[in-house]
Amino acid sequence: MVQDQIVARGISDKRVIEAMLKIPRHLFVQEAFAAQAYSDKALPIGEKQTISQPYIVALMTEKLALTGSEKVLEIGTGSGYQTSLLATLADRVYSAERIRPLALSARKCLDSLKLFNVQLRINDSGGSPIGWEEEAPFDAIIVTAGAPEIPAILTDQLAPGGRLVIPVGTEAEQMLVTIYKNEEGELFQEPSVPCRFVPLIGKQGWHE
Ligand code: SAH
Repeated sequence: MVQDQIVARGISDKRVIEAMLKIPRHLFVQEAFAAQAYSDKALPIGEKQTISQPYIVALMTEKLALTGSEKVLEIGTGSGYQTSLLATLADRVYSAERIRPLALSARKCLDSLKLFNVQLRINDSGGSPIGWEEEAPFDAIIVTAGAPEIPAILTDQLAPGGRLVIPVGTEAEQMLVTIYKNEEGELFQEPSVPCRFVPLIGKQGWHE
C-alpha cells in the first residue's frame, strides 16, 4: 500500500511514510473489510461513515508538515486511523467526534497501539460549535469531513505559523484546501486536489 499508493503518487515526507508503514490500517476497519484494508479506497466504518482513502490521508498529513513538537486538533475521529498517524507524528493530539460508538472504538484502537498522547472528545450535543477552544491555539488542525466553507472558528484557533487542512465544497464533492497563518496572523489558502468526504455536521457544516 505505502509503496504503490503513497510513495508512487508523490508523497515524500519520510516521517509520514514511516508512520504509515507502522500503523496497521486493518485494525481500523470492520472485520468484513479487513481483506481490503490495504487497497486504495475509502471503506465503511459503521454509522454511515468511512475511513478515508490512504492516499488522501497521506496527502493531508503531509500538508500539516509535522515535525514532532506540535499540538494538533482533528475534527472527525472516525475510526481513529488518521488520529493514530497524528499521534505518531506530533506531540499531542486533540480529536473530536460526534458519534459516540466510533469514538469509543477509536479509543480502543489507540490504546492497543499504546498511543497515549491523544485526548478524545465526543460532541454529540447537536448545536455545539466545532473546535476545542480551551486547548487552542493549535499548530495544526485537520478536518476529515467535508465543510461548506472554511470555518472562522477554526482559523481563530490556529497558532501563528500554523496550518489547517480541510475539504471544502458541496456535500457531493470538495477541494482539499490548506490554510496557512503567518506570524502576523494573516491567512493564505492553497487548494490541492478534488476529494470526497462524508459531510461535516452541525453549525459550521451541513444539516444531518
Ligand atoms: N479521519 C477518519 C475519517 C472519519 S469520517 C478516519 O480516519 O477514519 C469523518 C468523521 O467526522 C465521521 O466519523 C463523522 O461522524 C465525523 N463528524 C462529522 N461532523 C462532525 C462534527 N461536527 N464534529 C465532530 N465530528 C464530526
